[in-house]
Amino acid sequence: MADCLFCRIIRNEVPSRKVYEDDHTFAFEDLNPQGPTHILVIPKKHIASLKDAKAEDAELVGRCYLTAAHIARERSIEDGYRTVLNVGPRAGQSVFHLHVHLIGGRNLQWPPG
Ligand code: 5GP
Ligand code: ZN
Repeated sequence: MADCLFCRIIRNEVPSRKVYEDDHTFAFEDLNPQGPTHILVIPKKHIASLKDAKAEDAELVGRCYLTAAHIARERSIEDGYRTVLNVGPRAGQSVFHLHVHLIGGRNLQWPPG
């Protein structure tokens, strides 16, 4: 999508600190990290939000989580990390290109705020 911030990051039109890329997913450091590790994993295909994902996107959404698990393994934070997918403004979604937050490297409280 032409004017989507995260699509522009994938195309390298907006700079980011990329940590991983494959044919389907892209991952980069969050600009405003909420922990020692805070990475955003996104599908290369533009999907605005989880509520807009179709049955045909099931594998792609799953791939985003597997990319997060791969990065967590590489970063040695498997003693505890969280994958968060905010859906809608009331849950704090501010960028409307589906993204999975990978947060770790510190103790995480439950329930989240
Ligand atoms: P949301 O609030 O939609 O779940 O998450 C959006 C995330 O994107 C936030 O954690 C925010 O810090 C991050 N973010 C917003 N703009 C940029 C940007 O231009 N670059 C990077 N790397 N992260 C961004
Ligand atoms: Zn997009």
